[in-house]
Amino acid sequence: MGKIKIANLKKSYGSNEVLKDINMQIEEGEVVCVIGPSGSGKSTLLRCVNKLEEVTAGEVIVDDYNISDNRTDINKVRENIGMVFQHFNLFPHMSVLKNITFAPVELKKQSEAEARKTALQLLERVGLSDKADAFPGSLSGGQKQRVAIARALAMNPDIMLFDEPTSALDPEMVGEVLGVMKDLASEGMTMMIVTHEMGFAREVADRVIFMDGGYIVEEGAPEQVFGSPKHERTISFLEKVL
Ligand code: ADP
Ligand code: MG
Repeated sequence: MGKIKIANLKKSYGSNEVLKDINMQIEEGEVVCVIGPSGSGKSTLLRCVNKLEEVTAGEVIVDDYNISDNRTDINKVRENIGMVFQHFNLFPHMSVLKNITFAPVELKKQSEAEARKTALQLLERVGLSDKADAFPGSLSGGQKQRVAIARALAMNPDIMLFDEPTSALDPEMVGEVLGVMKDLASEGMTMMIVTHEMGFAREVADRVIFMDGGYIVEEGAPEQVFGSPKHERTISFLEKVL
């Protein structure tokens, strides 16, 4: 069943059309990596999936909710979509534990005790059991990003969106974050990941989408897109990054 369905999506900022007739579908449990040059519209596309951006035309359907329809309660849909950003966006004045329990307590009306129990399990899962009481400022970039992933998972989402989650990290910390994402993928999470980590995309993605100039230029299995790209633009992009 299509978990995310995007049909004839267009997005403009003023007269600048940055997404031009995007059509795609992501199945339940599928891991899709979106690659492409800077400015090609990857972040905008990702942000249209949880309506951080209003679409200009076309349809975005998530879990059978048409989120491009203004009558749809977007908060209801967003509860099922976790998002992880390049710059972590943790609450600096809250402990790691509080960062994770905040939304479940406020939005899902979980008890503090219940939320705390889940948070501690999630911290264990991302390898940060000892950091529950630490503040974000004392963590490394890789640790912050793992907290951000735990925080997103605390809402028990069934879709996770990642926008260049390792781009702001020192190289030695990239692996620990990709490792957590890989575990999530193998547990069956539906994931849409904008990334420049081609090795990760090749290994973990079920499907790779190459974007350029607001279009999906090419998509397919990683072996196909990386191994025998069809389009000139894909070939020249991959030549630069691989
Ligand atoms: P990518 O993530 O692939 O680098 P983006 O989706 O961030 O690309 O941006 C695509 C285009 O949209 C760029 O030309 C960018 O300048 C423009 N853009 C993105 N966000 C905004 C915004 N909030 N206002 C105006 N233009 C924007
Ligand atoms: Mg981007």
